[in-house]
Amino acid sequence: MTRAIRIGHLYPDVMNLYGDRGNILALVQRARWRGIQVDVVPISLGDPFRAETVDLLFAGGDQDREQRRVAADLAGPKGDAIRAAIEAGLPALVVCGSYQLFGQRYLPAEGPELPGLGVFDVVTEHPGVNVVRCVGNIVVDWNGSLLVGFENHGGRTYLGPRAAPLGRVVAGYGNNGQDGTEGARYKNAFGTYLHGSLLPKNPRLTDELLRLALQQRGDDPTLAALDDSVEEAARRVAIARARAERHAQRNVGATARPR
Ligand code: GLN
Repeated sequence: MTRAIRIGHLYPDVMNLYGDRGNILALVQRARWRGIQVDVVPISLGDPFRAETVDLLFAGGDQDREQRRVAADLAGPKGDAIRAAIEAGLPALVVCGSYQLFGQRYLPAEGPELPGLGVFDVVTEHPGVNVVRCVGNIVVDWNGSLLVGFENHGGRTYLGPRAAPLGRVVAGYGNNGQDGTEGARYKNAFGTYLHGSLLPKNPRLTDELLRLALQQRGDDPTLAALDDSVEEAARRVAIARARAERHAQRNVGATARPR
């Protein structure tokens, strides 16, 4: 019997915009459907981070004000420990505002630049509150399969020479609405702008994270197949909706044009 998978949930009470907590629910439920117990460990402002206590890390998104509090909490030993754990292969999923803070730096709409963890070689700049936000349904090609979600961010993220995108934008804005990239991947860490929440509608990514967590601690990463017909039906609707939005926006010549 595989022992419980331990998910470290970073800042659950601070970074939880657009229902990003749904990602935790999807991970827990798809593990339980295979008879694998999951323990969720909240790690918030002021809490220590100990890599040996978690098998998988998750952090959601939120606005600039909360990001400022989190950036301060990540500065110093806590952020160093998280970066070292990811360097050692700890799987992680970080969404939107957390994704931005796992990059090199984030320049918010107002106020000083925030230092990032430097997990991803990306930089993010918010062009200002009067500039079109990247908002809408989004579809991303992730290694030949499609990820569906919803994005709502002002910041534009640009990949550095050592960064690899999570995927390519099929419909929507993605990292910056210009270069066709979405998110970033480094070792077993996934950064993305996809809210939705992401994982309930993307069972392949959920299972990939569970496999990585099992593998990371030396367990058999094989997962029994599940009936994903409900998720697939939801995905078809989400893909059609995103494509219709892109078509409509192309017709009206929206600025910060999505792909
Ligand atoms: N404050 C950041 C931005 O606007 C992140 C927003 C979010 O997490 N949805 O880009």
